[in-house]
Amino acid sequence: MILIKGIKFKKIGGITLYPFVLVRPKNPSRRLINHERIHIRQQIELLVLPFYLWYITEWIIYFLKYRDWWKAYHQICFEQEAYDNEDDFEYLNKRKFWSFCKYL
Ligand SMILES: [Zn+2]
Repeated sequence: MILIKGIKFKKIGGITLYPFVLVRPKNPSRRLINHERIHIRQQIELLVLPFYLWYITEWIIYFLKYRDWWKAYHQICFEQEAYDNEDDFEYLNKRKFWSFCKYL
């Protein structure tokens, strides 16, 4: 994971573009880093490119359903897993393969 700090985003704290993690704060919280580390793991498990295709497909489906990009973003299984477990700093040590499927 390569961490790049101080990127300008409006609402979100960071973006993971494997192997890079771009974060807004100059001093990112442990929680934000953990959230992005969960995305790194998801991306590795899906061999990176399929992760993005899946992510975008889910986002489009939820956007068409809710007509709200922020709500659609929070419905994506990858985000639900990351938000649900970002406070658990041991999560990646005990997480099972493809755990994001629980959030579909
Ligand atoms: Zn996220």
